[in-house]
Amino acid sequence: MSFEYLGLSDEILSALKDAGYSEPTPIQAKAIPSILQGRDILGIAQTGTGKTASFTLPMIDILSQGRARARMPRSLILEPTRELAAQVAESFEKYGKNSKLTMALLIGGVAFADQERLLDRGVDVLIATPGRLLDHVERGRVMLTGTEVLVVDEADRMLDMGFIPDVERICKLMPQTLQTLFFSATMPKEIKQLTDQFLKNPKTIEVSPPSSTASTITQKLVPVAAHDKVKRQALRHLLRGEDVKNGIIFCNRKKEVKVVCKSLKIHGFSVGELHGDLPQETRMEILSQFKGGEIQFLVASDVAARGLDIPSVSHVFNFDIPTNPEDYVHRIGRTGRAGKEGHAFTLSTPRDKKYLDALIKFLGKEIEEEIYPEFQNKPEERKKTSAARKERKTRDDHSPRQSKKKKSSRRDAAEKDEPVIGMGDHIPAFLLRDG
Ligand code: AMP
Repeated sequence: MSFEYLGLSDEILSALKDAGYSEPTPIQAKAIPSILQGRDILGIAQTGTGKTASFTLPMIDILSQGRARARMPRSLILEPTRELAAQVAESFEKYGKNSKLTMALLIGGVAFADQERLLDRGVDVLIATPGRLLDHVERGRVMLTGTEVLVVDEADRMLDMGFIPDVERICKLMPQTLQTLFFSATMPKEIKQLTDQFLKNPKTIEVSPPSSTASTITQKLVPVAAHDKVKRQALRHLLRGEDVKNGIIFCNRKKEVKVVCKSLKIHGFSVGELHGDLPQETRMEILSQFKGGEIQFLVASDVAARGLDIPSVSHVFNFDIPTNPEDYVHRIGRTGRAGKEGHAFTLSTPRDKKYLDALIKFLGKEIEEEIYPEFQNKPEERKKTSAARKERKTRDDHSPRQSKKKKSSRRDAAEKDEPVIGMGDHIPAFLLRDG
């Protein structure tokens, strides 16, 4: 199917041609004609499905008629994070380059003076995070009574971040004639209540069930021995893979993001970090360096990376198995986007068993294992380890002191990254330090 059959204007079709899009994604094919007819939409779709264009394209055409009034935006797009808001703004610029729409952004970390000047003149599109928007509404700088189209994007992420009461307040300030376009990857009951209350006879479009992952992504599970040093070695090995063009490495905690990023830098990788502790400007800068190919790898936490639109990521690496299985789908959705081939590798240690079991249950299928013998305790080594432990115990029972020779051979083995035999369960901290 071609974009020409969806009812979009020639200006948009020409911008799409320049963007190199030959045909609409399923959500675009289903949503665009209904939005152009003025219907409310409930889109159950994750990022990577082309959902941003599914609402920006028809909005550009809808808003091309009419004029904005001071402080009364004609359309409002609510986004959970500043990064997502900035990406939607980029989409409007890209697809709306042949139209004269005006736009303002109300997001944290961006100076307000310029945005307020734009708002005072009147904007067609206002993109905002809920808290920032309400600040402005309360100070009388924005009035929502003239809004024609409202987009609530990534509603389930808003729920995770505690924004739903703000979204509800904003919906109550809207005029009766509003057209609402509502998007969420999943439909927890809080979101369902919100859509029941505010959407009018919506067209529901579900393009991909929440636990499904794109078929263009090959997924591999890489078992590794239990500690971080081996995990980092395994990661480095994977990063050096032949077809790795660029990639995002996900960790469960900010602390881990910092440690992994530092370690990769020491080993000569081109890498940047993205987590919630960094100032907004630094995050944007790192993201643009990554998008521009100046840095090859991004180490990121879930919140910082959710929904980022990075079109050409060849690989995703899960340094940790996510504690929330849904995050796995979001993480690996950074690759294999818009029909491109993608690869996702997940490191798994025996400690992660609980999370791995939960993930497999959630996905409803196993993830194929890729075994690297050097990164796991092979069964015969485990046997050797336990035999050595028994031998040590017997020896220690007779002679409590070990010979100097034995100690230094263990250290040699550890420094060569060989499996260390006879340490028992406790590995001394100095051996765990990254080499
Ligand atoms: P989204 O789901 O909105 O985050 O979009 C995912 C990616 O797909 C973005 O990089 C878009 O630029 C790209 N994209 C959106 N629509 C199309 C299309 N029809 N053809 C090719 N790429 C697209």
